[in-house]
Amino acid sequence: MTIKTFGVVGAGQMGNGIAQVAARSGLNVMMNDIKEEFVERGLATIAKILARSVDKGKMTEDDKQAVLGRIKTSVNLKDMSAADFVVEAATENEALKFQIFRDLDEICESGVILATNTSSIPIGRIAAQTGRPQLVIGMHFMNPVPVMKLVEVIPGIATSEETFKTTWELAEKFGKTPAKSNDFPGFIANRILMPMINEAVYCLYHNVGTREDIDTVMKLGMNHPMGPLTLADLIGLDTCLAIMETLYDGFKDSKYRPCPLLRKYVEAGWLGRKTGKGFYEY
Ligand code: NAD
Repeated sequence: MTIKTFGVVGAGQMGNGIAQVAARSGLNVMMNDIKEEFVERGLATIAKILARSVDKGKMTEDDKQAVLGRIKTSVNLKDMSAADFVVEAATENEALKFQIFRDLDEICESGVILATNTSSIPIGRIAAQTGRPQLVIGMHFMNPVPVMKLVEVIPGIATSEETFKTTWELAEKFGKTPAKSNDFPGFIANRILMPMINEAVYCLYHNVGTREDIDTVMKLGMNHPMGPLTLADLIGLDTCLAIMETLYDGFKDSKYRPCPLLRKYVEAGWLGRKTGKGFYEY
């Protein structure tokens, strides 16, 4: 199937980033969320980033207008009936994603690939919610999407070779470098990254160091571009906790237990950058 219209479910930090790279690659985009204010905020973020590219001379004003002109917004999932390929980037919650996939399976045409940007939920489990498991796949972008080169492509146990190839090629069309991960909790990226972040939270919890010292050690000592606590705030502490829960549930191994301090912050609504407070204040 030729992909002309690309659907994105969820217009949060990942969803609007994915919508932006898709529109920049020339596709028409339908970006959906549950409330008008959420899609408006997503669109405003895209416009702001494109304006910055214009200011830096990386893009012309006409190109910016053309990219924005290719993005339509929606607050009704039924609008996804127009899409030839859909990526779901809604909140990292299994029950929520299951419902979205059951609905998309009803709404979208029979040959349409339904991809998920989940950080950690097994693709096979999401695929089993639909009558088209061969067309369900993980397409895991990194944050911030317009900047980060990697896309993990994750076939589930029932995903067809053709679905894998189409998704891989689409990632390349977006200017990204795909890497294949098989379908195990956390895939490759978060299997390695999130226990490291969780351990940094334990260091704070056990008062091994201050937030600044923990981040400085990893930045200067390991050459990481940002410290793990700063990165956790960027990712969203709710997302970090959800990923640790998935690793813990998936492997039943105590080494993946989420740090109680991480849970405490999430319960307090301290989710990082997106709420103005996490390990740091914004
Ligand atoms: P976010 O909180 O910024 O955005 C999630 C969006 O989903 C919100 O706007 C919310 O209103 C919307 N949403 C919730 N229910 C919905 C529904 N039923 N239909 C449509 N939209 C709905 O979260 P995010 O950081 O963008 O994460 C989205 C997904 O991307 C998650 O699965 C997350 O694990 C994954 N992910 C996140 C990162 C990261 O660094 N934050 C990186 C890779 C993947």
